[in-house]
Amino acid sequence: MVCGISQTSANWLKQSQDVMGTRVNVELWSENPASARHCSDQVFAEMHRIDALMSPYKPDSEISAINQQASEKNVSVSTELFNLLKQSIHFSELSSGAFDITFASIGFQYDYRSHKKPNAQTISQQLKTINYKNLVLENHTVKFAMQGMSIDLGGIAKGYAVDQAIEILQQCGIQQALVSAGGDSRILGDKQGRPWIIGIQHPRKKQAIALSIPLSNTAISTSGDYERFFLSNKKRIHHIINPQTGKSATKSWSATVIGPDATSTDALSTSIFILGAKKGLELINSLDNMDAIIIDSTGVVFYSSGLESPADPG
Ligand code: ADP
Ligand code: MG
Repeated sequence: MVCGISQTSANWLKQSQDVMGTRVNVELWSENPASARHCSDQVFAEMHRIDALMSPYKPDSEISAINQQASEKNVSVSTELFNLLKQSIHFSELSSGAFDITFASIGFQYDYRSHKKPNAQTISQQLKTINYKNLVLENHTVKFAMQGMSIDLGGIAKGYAVDQAIEILQQCGIQQALVSAGGDSRILGDKQGRPWIIGIQHPRKKQAIALSIPLSNTAISTSGDYERFFLSNKKRIHHIINPQTGKSATKSWSATVIGPDATSTDALSTSIFILGAKKGLELINSLDNMDAIIIDSTGVVFYSSGLESPADPG
């Protein structure tokens, strides 16, 4: 486990750890260093708890139990997981099926580190196993209505973990903090009376920022095709899967959603990345309190109606 702790200024504590397969950062302001450290430690404990519950790679997680048994029987799950599964289905419905945690039956056959992808025949045989409508949720149980299904919460669990972290910090009496888990962040309050300046990674230039936005008291998630990918015949094979094709989604380079909670911004950033600028922004513009920035697959930047484009004011 990689850990880092630093006191960025007199009363800001910054702590980082690798959890849930990503870098988690907690920055918080407190007048009491001992209590700040205690609150931050509680956040990391919560992240590890969620990882143990929801990782499809941990054989004794609840998700693994579902993936192993739900084709055969109704699998009982915790209220917490049941509710997150219900929320996942809500985002599937909102996004006309772009967000679909059953993408995993094909998704698990990609390995971005070893440059492995399923062949065309495997994809066409298994595509029918991707359909959230075959995920049956009843009385705290989960059942797959079809053989060969799997689920993975990789498109929503980090946002959920960030929301849980913010709740813990609030209960701890913290009023100013930033928690991020990979591309999902949430800001509590502001930064000593000023907004945080959050940079959106340039999708094609490493270490460069495409644009920066001042934000306070909000969540922001970015999904990009540059996070986990490899090139195969000059094609970018990356970790966001279009449920209609079983292949990496092609319409966007990156999609960012800004909204009140990170569970929603996480699921929606994955959704609109797949939907692309036109349908993706239509969806965001139809929702209250949500904004988005999409960089399409030619590098053009699109903004939702609540954000004024700097290039196109008014
Ligand atoms: P990250 O922050 O991990 O880059 P994103 O929010 O961009 O994550 O979501 C990508 C992750 O979502 C993938 O690694 C995978 O676990 C999951 N995922 C991929 N395609 C879909 C999909 N169509 N619906 C729901 N989840 C998906
Ligand atoms: Mg996401």
